[in-house]
Amino acid sequence: ADQEDPDPSKKTLVVLGTGWGSVSLLKKLDTENYNVIVISPRNYFLFTPLLPSCTTGTIEHRSIMEPIRNFLRHKKAAVKYYEAEATKIDYEKKVVYINDDSEIKGATSATEVPFDMLVVGVGAENATFGIPGVREHGCFLKEVADAQRIRKRIMDCCETATFKDQSPEEIKRLLHMVVVGGGPTGVEFAGELQDFFENDLRKWIPEISDNFHVTLVEALPNVLPSFSKNLIDYTEQTFKEETISIRTKTMVKNVTDQYIEAEFTDASGQKQLEKIPYGLLVWATGNALRPVVKDLMSQIPAQKDSRRGLAVNEYLVVKGTENIWAVGDCAVANYAPTAQVAAQEGAFLARLFNQMAKTEEIENKLASLSEDQAKAPSKEVRDEAFAQIKDLQKRLRRVQKMGPFEYSHQGSLAYIGGEKAVADISWLTGNLATGGQLTYFFWKSAYLSMCFSTRNRILVIMDWTKTQIFGRDVSRE
Ligand code: FAD
Ligand code: NAD
Repeated sequence: ADQEDPDPSKKTLVVLGTGWGSVSLLKKLDTENYNVIVISPRNYFLFTPLLPSCTTGTIEHRSIMEPIRNFLRHKKAAVKYYEAEATKIDYEKKVVYINDDSEIKGATSATEVPFDMLVVGVGAENATFGIPGVREHGCFLKEVADAQRIRKRIMDCCETATFKDQSPEEIKRLLHMVVVGGGPTGVEFAGELQDFFENDLRKWIPEISDNFHVTLVEALPNVLPSFSKNLIDYTEQTFKEETISIRTKTMVKNVTDQYIEAEFTDASGQKQLEKIPYGLLVWATGNALRPVVKDLMSQIPAQKDSRRGLAVNEYLVVKGTENIWAVGDCAVANYAPTAQVAAQEGAFLARLFNQMAKTEEIENKLASLSEDQAKAPSKEVRDEAFAQIKDLQKRLRRVQKMGPFEYSHQGSLAYIGGEKAVADISWLTGNLATGGQLTYFFWKSAYLSMCFSTRNRILVIMDWTKTQIFGRDVSRE
């Protein structure tokens, strides 16, 4: 089919983003029913749960990327993909403004795409809470480029620390790896980094052994607030054994190029401000709204009181609209912003859209049958049409029965380093909270089974094997 000309008999469905929510929708969507257009600045899906492993080279980043073209080329009807960012959604005009912000731009790099139906799956940005210096000096951990940057910096810190005539204080600072945010991202990264040091760095660069140190800073009284109490204790105990320092009740207030300033409460209950020097700073304090989402919310009165994202109803329709849906981290549906939730929401929308198309098809058939029946010359023909109508009405009722979105929680898993993982799993009979090496193997197999394609699965196994045999690569690139 000519992709430039949308089929006028079909509605145009525009999907923003190529993350967990959008890709899960695209996988299950029957694309023959709509003119489907996907818009995202990233032409691949990223398996985020294994991203922390890319910061140290345990896994190579390309092993957890899957080109969006790979999903789309298997679809029955052609799907258009534009590599661009949605800069503005005009809700009343039903238009998305898009901009190609990549290095190579053509004569046209900004344009608009009209839609009948829109799915917003743009995810979230990194929260900084306006703390000065975070963006300039810290590294986030959300995208492939972030992981590459961290990997490079770890090695740069190590090499610079061994530079001729470096002072002892400077060596200490350069080898102090500070992670801010004790959520799962910060915890998993700290664990991976300590593994890198224990298994590889201290062998390759023995000079750094005495000074390499990882510190995890968390504002709340404990890390992993969303996990069970015994798993929090287990993680804190494991970190102690791995010699990762945890600084809880410590809130970072300011960031400079060489130290962070953090507020903590001392033994006498006094608030103190402390300067903590660092060589590498990884900032993992959770999610914030993307500007395009904030702007859309400002156009819709029903979104006035929503703070954390697009408020949606139980069918994931953006409240205050009829033809816009939201999935994943940019939507607020009372679930945590996780891949699990986003994937289930995407799959739900695919079912909903497939069903909507079927409903419309049956309704059209019904309308034409009723017309035929009215015009029918004989009683037999009329009766036959009537029987068909009854049959179709039955089918319609069956199709229309789809209930609202319900999230089914499969459990939470996090790797904590030293070949140990923690897992909060809900079984049929109750909850299981477990930690340790066995959980680590469970973690590995769970992620493998979740990896989107066979290709990714094989690449990840090969990377794990490679790391086991040769250790991680310490080239700075
Ligand atoms: P994303 O997956 O972030 O995708 C957003 C998409 O939108 C991207 O393709 C992006 O390029 C695109 N986009 C951005 N801006 C625009 C724009 N203006 N216009 C168009 N497109 C745009 N969750 C779990 O359940 N289990 C885990 O183990 C887990 N581990 C994680 C580890 C890390 C390091 C991180 C960062 C997150 C982890 N998460 C995990 C959370 C999970 O990744 C997110 O909840 C999930 O990615 C949300 O899916 P999404 O589709 O909303 O957004
Ligand atoms: P998060 O929101 O879970 O945790 C951020 C932490 O940073 C909080 O504990 C917060 O108290 C702390 N913080 C905020 N400001 C601070 C400051 N100024 N100083 C010190 N600490 C500060 O963020 P995340 O870990 O990036 O996770 C984001 C989402 O992705 C969550 O829903 C999480 O469940 C999901 N995720 C899941 C996994 C997993 O299941 N393995 C892994 C990564 C992310």
